[in-house]
Amino acid sequence: MSYKVAIIGSGIAGIASAIRLARRGHQVEVFEAASQPGGKLNEITLGKYRFDAGPSLFTLPQLVDELFSLCGENPREHFHYSKLPINCQYFFSDGTELTAFADHKQLKQEIHQKTGESPEAVDQAIENSRQLYDTLSELFMFSSLQDIRTFFNKTAFKAYLRIPRLGFFQTMDGANKALFRDPRMVQLFNRYATYNGSSPYKTPATMNIIPHLEMSIGAYFPQGGMYAITKALVALAERQGVVFHYNTRVDKILIERKRIVGIRVGDNRLPYDRVVSNMDIVNSYKKLMPQIKAPSFLLKQPKSSSALIFYWGIKKQFKQLDVHNIFFSGDYKDEFEHLFEKGTISDDPTVYIHISSKCEASDAPTYGENWFTMINVPNNQGQNWDQLITEARVKILKKLSSQLGTPIEDFIECEDYLDPRLIESKTSSAQGALYGNSSNNLFAAFLRHANKSRRIKGLYFCGGSVHPGGGIPMSLSSAKIMADSFS
Ligand code: FAD
Repeated sequence: MSYKVAIIGSGIAGIASAIRLARRGHQVEVFEAASQPGGKLNEITLGKYRFDAGPSLFTLPQLVDELFSLCGENPREHFHYSKLPINCQYFFSDGTELTAFADHKQLKQEIHQKTGESPEAVDQAIENSRQLYDTLSELFMFSSLQDIRTFFNKTAFKAYLRIPRLGFFQTMDGANKALFRDPRMVQLFNRYATYNGSSPYKTPATMNIIPHLEMSIGAYFPQGGMYAITKALVALAERQGVVFHYNTRVDKILIERKRIVGIRVGDNRLPYDRVVSNMDIVNSYKKLMPQIKAPSFLLKQPKSSSALIFYWGIKKQFKQLDVHNIFFSGDYKDEFEHLFEKGTISDDPTVYIHISSKCEASDAPTYGENWFTMINVPNNQGQNWDQLITEARVKILKKLSSQLGTPIEDFIECEDYLDPRLIESKTSSAQGALYGNSSNNLFAAFLRHANKSRRIKGLYFCGGSVHPGGGIPMSLSSAKIMADSFS
């Protein structure tokens, strides 16, 4: 049976959902409030510099390829990416500089040489992460938790048998401290908690699953930058007959007798058989269907951290920097206490710089580099952001100038910024959180909203704020889980 489907939002999950549903023969239209597709996965241009506006780390590229294959197309004819030889360039507060090579042998040598940490401990961390991925990914990343079969199959039983060894009852920091002697290695591996907007001092050690994605499967760079993912998938969706409406905010989801009947855009009631909301789940309930009783316990779960980003066109090239660079805080614990307990920014925040022009020369003029300079910040709770941003800019410039040995402000040719308020207003994400709910407690995986409404016939959800969680791979997975439950 072919349905008329409205998808609300063209974030990565909205686009992937559109492709999957169109491929099954449904008539799909995507309604996007912004003037261009992508949501958080977007781009901006400042003078001669192009920047990816949000995500910069691309993992599990096969989930993008899968969408082309599903449509009978060869992904390599439409979308190209390459594996990065260096995952990240690390700068520690004590002056140590460490290159995180993708090659494990090189990585272990570098770590041993720079920190004295034993290669066996690094091997063990990588192996633990692989085992966590092999045991838990199918269950928690790629399956519906609404489907009882998820919990009664060979993979699930294998996971149950390994529960005592999976780290549910220890924090990420606790597990890393037990493994590494060198505090710099603890800090490096603790950093992976930020990949889903959580704290290593709160998130369970099961989140040590994350390094496997980057360190073993690999960090990739899409040709054309991250926004090439959005562009390639929108083009694929259009080839499948999906129609996109930009500058078109959906105001209401129309429901009659517990069934979807359509959407309202301005004064127009548009009839649809099925609706998939890619809008943040909190705002889907609050703004699009306030008449429906919301599952408030799920929606009230603490949100992930947010980000403050300065997009800097830098009129100089820095040989010591790579595509991904981290300048660590001297007091990581204090930084996370500021983020998740005090709701503010520490005096010494960890600074991340993504420079896509290292791979994509056309993203900056020949004499310069495009610096996406980001710090983790608390989600929006009504803080005095203007003051926090002004102060943070000074702290970031001071830190970078000191560690790079040159006054960075002198090289800023053009500038823009993104803060939690703007993330919230531009993409409708509750509190400007990057990844929906945080994973700061043991049960977080079970406390995300499902991809199919149990109460409203014909209503579905996808994206980083619902199961299985935030980030590009998980958002793509949410679209698959949604489509597999579509009826
Ligand atoms: P979103 O991107 O949230 O988009 C939702 C879309 O819906 C928006 O376009 C919005 O305009 C539209 N919309 C909302 N309401 C309506 C309405 N009523 N009517 C019409 N349209 C509507 N992930 C990674 O994997 N790697 C990273 O390195 C990474 N870094 C990040 C850095 C930053 C600064 C940010 C912001 C995010 C980062 N993420 C990263 C997370 C990742 O970007 C998100 O998890 C993912 O893009 C979310 O996609 P989504 O499908 O949930 O939709």
